[in-house]
Amino acid sequence: MENCIFCKIVEGTIPCNKVYEDEHVLSFMDINPINKGHLLVIPKKHYQEVKDYDEETGKFLFNAAVKIEKALRNVKGIKLEGTSFVIANGKAAGQEVFHSHLHIIPRYEHDNMTLKITRNEKPTAEELKMLADLINKEIK
Ligand code: AMP
Repeated sequence: MENCIFCKIVEGTIPCNKVYEDEHVLSFMDINPINKGHLLVIPKKHYQEVKDYDEETGKFLFNAAVKIEKALRNVKGIKLEGTSFVIANGKAAGQEVFHSHLHIIPRYEHDNMTLKITRNEKPTAEELKMLADLINKEIK
């Protein structure tokens, strides 16, 4: 994809600090980390969002992410008491680079990374059940 910074990283025309690579997936350090060790895992093929993935991409991406996360835990000098996996799908969700990517962020108590949460909904038990059924019906 022309003018996509992550496609250029995949092609090698823009440098990155590579962590992992296989046929389908590339992982590299985030250039502007939230915490030390923050990295990205991307499908090599250009997909804007998760909704655009083909059948296999999610598997490849998540399998690689699980491997990388386990490895990250063994690296000395990275403060890691937990991790956050984050994917922003679309501008409204905070996506800035429109080549889908999974953030793996090392976390520790009081690291000040907050996802400011406002609960916009207060569903009844009935509404929750209804929503679950509606979503389930849409799963192909
Ligand atoms: P998002 O808001 O989920 O789209 O996040 C995009 C992420 O990509 C940010 O955390 C950036 O710091 C990171 N980023 C942007 N350009 C580069 C780059 N050239 N190399 C590594 N990370 C990058």
